[in-house]
Amino acid sequence: MPTTARAVVIGGGVIGCSILYHLAKLGWSDVVLLERDELTSGSTWHAAANIHGLHDSTNVSRIQHYTMNLYKELEQETGQGCGVFQPGSLYLAQTEAREHQLRLQAAKAKLYGMNFHEISIAEARELHPLVNFDGIRCVMYEPDGGNVDPSGVTQAYAAGARQRGAQIHRFTPVTGTVAQPDGSWIVQTPRGDIHTEWVVNAAGLWGREVAALAGLQLPLQPTEHQYFVTETIPEIAAMDRRLPSVSDRDGEYYLRQEGKGLLVGAYERDMQFWAEDGTPLDFAHDLFPDDLDRIEENMMNAIERVPAVGEAGIKRVINGPMIWSPDANVLFGPVPELHNYFCCNGIIPGFSQSGGMGLLAAQWIIEGETQYDMFGWDVARFDAWAGKAFTKARVADQYAHRFAIHFPNEERSAGRPARTRPVYDMQRDRRAVFGLNAGWEHPLWFADMPGATETNGFTRQNWWEPVGAECRMLRDRAGIIDISNFAKYICKGPGAEDWLNAVYANTMPRAVGRSCLTPLISKRGGIAGDFTVTRTEEDTFWIIGSGMAERYHKRFFKQVPLPDGTTFESQTSAICGFNVAGPASRDLLQRLTNTSLATADFPFMRSRTIELAGVEVLALRVSFTGDLGWELHCKADDQMTLYAALLDAGQQFGAGPVGSRALMSLRIEKGYGSWSREYSPEYWPQEVGLDRLCKLDKDFLNKEAAVRVLRYPARERLVILELDADDVNRSNAEATGGEPIFKDGKGIGRVTSGTYGYTVDQSLALGFVRDAGPGDVVEVMVLGQPHKATILAAPPFDPEGRRLRA
Ligand SMILES: Cc1cc2nc3c(=O)[nH]c(=O)nc-3n(C[C@H](O)[C@H](O)[C@H](O)COP(=O)(O)OP(=O)(O)OC[C@H]3O[C@@H](n4cnc5c(N)ncnc54)[C@H](O)[C@@H]3O)c2cc1C
Repeated sequence: MPTTARAVVIGGGVIGCSILYHLAKLGWSDVVLLERDELTSGSTWHAAANIHGLHDSTNVSRIQHYTMNLYKELEQETGQGCGVFQPGSLYLAQTEAREHQLRLQAAKAKLYGMNFHEISIAEARELHPLVNFDGIRCVMYEPDGGNVDPSGVTQAYAAGARQRGAQIHRFTPVTGTVAQPDGSWIVQTPRGDIHTEWVVNAAGLWGREVAALAGLQLPLQPTEHQYFVTETIPEIAAMDRRLPSVSDRDGEYYLRQEGKGLLVGAYERDMQFWAEDGTPLDFAHDLFPDDLDRIEENMMNAIERVPAVGEAGIKRVINGPMIWSPDANVLFGPVPELHNYFCCNGIIPGFSQSGGMGLLAAQWIIEGETQYDMFGWDVARFDAWAGKAFTKARVADQYAHRFAIHFPNEERSAGRPARTRPVYDMQRDRRAVFGLNAGWEHPLWFADMPGATETNGFTRQNWWEPVGAECRMLRDRAGIIDISNFAKYICKGPGAEDWLNAVYANTMPRAVGRSCLTPLISKRGGIAGDFTVTRTEEDTFWIIGSGMAERYHKRFFKQVPLPDGTTFESQTSAICGFNVAGPASRDLLQRLTNTSLATADFPFMRSRTIELAGVEVLALRVSFTGDLGWELHCKADDQMTLYAALLDAGQQFGAGPVGSRALMSLRIEKGYGSWSREYSPEYWPQEVGLDRLCKLDKDFLNKEAAVRVLRYPARERLVILELDADDVNRSNAEATGGEPIFKDGKGIGRVTSGTYGYTVDQSLALGFVRDAGPGDVVEVMVLGQPHKATILAAPPFDPEGRRLRA
């Protein structure tokens, strides 16, 4: 055993071995993997190990494609077989919604050069003669789909890593991870300690236990999961080729050839947790007793679709554990509160994603950032609010709905409410329909009838009209939007201005009462965040950013040391806020305060602490709606008083509460970008129009990277598009984000946000395009079908910003 290493990977499942392999491949040969038992001793050894390329998320598709292509390379490189079978995968749609989903995925595949396309039922029958295609609306074919040998793949990663100098020590359990004052770690084992720069938690089923060694709690929960393999099926035995796998997700099972029989697995509704209070340390190559009754319904669906399954006997049943996060995505990345502690836990499709996950983990550790935006997978998306009850409820829901379509805008109710603001009951009394944002309940829209819940789908849903009414109310009169879930921070002290200037790309406001917008620059020069910074006192700044990115941003803030005597603290829980906006907002607010809100006294982008309805609020004259408006921030204890006063005063003006879904529509009408959609580390400042806010005459975090990328022309540009009304009315659907954009048959970009612009009466989308500009007519693939769209020269609402400055 070595006593030092640059990185110690804990866990020799498929993920740990892939991370080790990629660390070595990217140049770190001084790396060690510690496995408490044999390699593959967690979920890995018994997996069905199906591999798929396409996913609703584009970056996940990229990762899965990288992984699928890697397995064959690995075999060649290491001589270790990965047992790769790629007879293709058939994806079946039984419902209209599934057809929309598959068509959209096929359109994305075309844009990104991936092989996933529609075939006729006759072609599908030829490929898989055992499938009964009755009732199937369409079939997509992915020629590279298939499965691998789980042990072979893991051993191949291990062999590739060893060839590059990495070490693997089996039967070496990690019993302690101790942070050192200099930021390094001591990893303790019964065979000795290793002093290392980085700890990587890839302990799979024991991810929670290994995290606890560093004082961490990860929101993870194991479940049982079953599949069975049939005896030999004569038709398969008679074939000289392998059958494609079948993804009949409406039937809620997966199916592929195994030997001369079929393998069928299911995510049943009546799911079963395992190891709720901790994964037993003596569990290794173990399984649970069969319980096929639990998956009977799924089995019957499989038998109806592939009758041969019912005719063959069952040869083997596998009931094994897998471990889930609350949204079924991996918990990925360095833990923001620790130094150099990397998590890669809770991966469900480990064999579809192992390669991409290993590559991105190695990029993050060695290069400081991944090539793709991984915000949706970032361990920082959860925090202490995602406790045990929440995690269990979400995992149960995710497991039971593994193959259900997750629609755009869908909000699942399991485990909620996790945390609420003081006005939650008042909002509920006003028939708010809530969504979840960084654990907080926040109103999405306000229903016009009691007990309303929202419906979900790719087409316009029951909230479409009420959200339109809220938008029109705000633009015609005024609206009151709860913006409490924005992240808020106060930076105070003699070094506050210097510190903020050293963090952010823009120059901080020099005068008290002034605000500025500023990007935060990522390691590769992309947009890591967009913030509003206001100087409220000579030595005090008020900072507003994305609520869901608060923990993510911690990683950036801690890279610049705070000067002595200066503090930077989150106020997100302590402070609540409302945005009161619309042409009547000034008159409405003026009824509640003696401070003059006239433009001469309170211009756009200025701020002041004022008393409003007896409550002290910090008032900022900004609004994400693009309209005249103020953001009002108060202590959480005062939120109910303030809300009641605003609603009361609003009555006279015909103003009322407005939800976040209307806010999304209003900001798109104005062309404003939003974090994780238009602003992401993947986009350079000049591509999203934020280059003018990067002040190169001063130093700031990752300035070198900004300077480097700013030398290049934009690779693509953020634009606003108007979709053809007839096309949109025909499909009864807006773009929602992710839809490819084509011009003359060539892929030129993709949508990042879409909405109906209720107050401009246009179906709108924001997106990135290359080789196209204002006036060009393009095709946006809403529901996977071409919709004509025109690139606009300016946002349709108030392009000169008169309303904002009124
Ligand atoms: C029945 C079933 C079917 C599946 N089918 C598929 C499929 O078709 N396709 C697919 O992509 N995925 C499938 N999966 C999921 C897949 O198995 C997992 O995503 C994958 O195996 C996770 O790998 P891992 O390396 O993260 O974790 P694990 O395989 O759990 O590995 C973790 C390793 O860490 C080691 N370890 C733990 N604690 C310590 C410690 N303190 N010190 C040292 N070592 C430690 C363990 O011994 C273990 O070897 C299936 C899972 C199940 C249960």
